[in-house]
Amino acid sequence: MPTTNDSPCNAMATPASPGTWNQEQLLQSLTDHLNQLITEKSSRLPANRLLLQLRQDATFQDTLKRWRTMSSTERLGAWKNLLECAGKHAREALPYCVRCGDCCRQSSPTLHLEDLELLQHNRIPWNQLVTLRRGEPVRSPLEEQVFYLLDERIKIREKPDAQECVFLGEEGDSCLIYEDRPLQCRAQACWDEEPARELSKQPYLTRRDIFQGVELMLELIAEHDRRCSFDQLNEAFLQLQADHGESIDAVLGLLQYEDHFRHFLAEQLKIPTDNLELIFGRSHSGLVPLFGFRVVPEPDGTRRLVPDETNEKR
Ligand code: SF4
Repeated sequence: MPTTNDSPCNAMATPASPGTWNQEQLLQSLTDHLNQLITEKSSRLPANRLLLQLRQDATFQDTLKRWRTMSSTERLGAWKNLLECAGKHAREALPYCVRCGDCCRQSSPTLHLEDLELLQHNRIPWNQLVTLRRGEPVRSPLEEQVFYLLDERIKIREKPDAQECVFLGEEGDSCLIYEDRPLQCRAQACWDEEPARELSKQPYLTRRDIFQGVELMLELIAEHDRRCSFDQLNEAFLQLQADHGESIDAVLGLLQYEDHFRHFLAEQLKIPTDNLELIFGRSHSGLVPLFGFRVVPEPDGTRRLVPDETNEKR
C-alpha cells in the first residue's frame, strides 16, 4: 500500500472520504485516528478512554447528531474539527475516570487492608476473592512474563481464560460494584501514575487480616502453606526439567497431595468450594500451565502431565 505524509484529513479526500461515511465508519475512523495519536505521542492513555472523553465534548456530540443530515462538504469540515478536537483531548486528558474499563480489562485489583471493610459489609462477596500465595508463579499482565511473589496478595477474581476483572460488566466498560470498588481501582489513573505509586506504600490485605481471631482457620492455612509450598513445587518442576521427565511421579504426587489437602478439609469443615481459593489459594493443579504443562485426567481416575503446546513455557 502506498504511504503518504498527508494529514488524515487530506488523505481522506479519496472515494472513501468522510463525505461518504456512515456513523459507524465515522466512529471507526475516529478510533483509528486516536490509536495513531497515542502511538505518535507514546501516550499511556487507552484509545477507548480518549474516545469516551471525546464523546463528552460538545463538538463531538453535535457532529454525531447532525452527521446523517450533513452534506459531503459539511462532513469534511466536521471531520476536520473532530481531528482538532481529538488532538486537544490527547494533549489534555481529563483528570478523572471516564469508566472506559481499560484498567479492568488488564487485570483485577489487588486488595489493601483498607478494603477489609468492604468485605465485612458484604460489598464484595468472599467467593469472588482469590489468594496468591508467597512464592507463587504469576504472570505479569503487561509483560507476559512469569515471576514469583515475595509476599501474599488477595485479589478479586478474573474471568476464566481472561485477565479482566469479574466485576467488569458484559458490555465491557462498566464496573458492577463501582460505588464499592476497592482502593486500587479508586487510585489507578491512566492520566497520572502518582496515585498508584503512592498506593503501593499502603499495607496489602492478607488472610491473617481476614481470619483474625479464627485460630483454627489460621492454623490450617499455615499448615497448608508448610506442606504445600510453592518452593517445593518449583523445585519439583526444575528437577523434572533436569532429568527429562524421570521425576514425573514426584510432581504428580505433590499435585495430588495438595488437591487432597484442600478438598478433604473443605468436606470436613463444610467450607463452600467457591471459598477454597481464598482460604488455600489457587490449586497446584490449576497452576501447572504456568510451568509449561497441563494435567490430563485418565479414564481410570489417574492423571497425566503433558507438555502444554498452547502455553509458552516460563
Ligand atoms: S472492581 Fe470494578 S473498577 Fe475495579 S477492576 Fe473490577 S470492574 Fe474495574
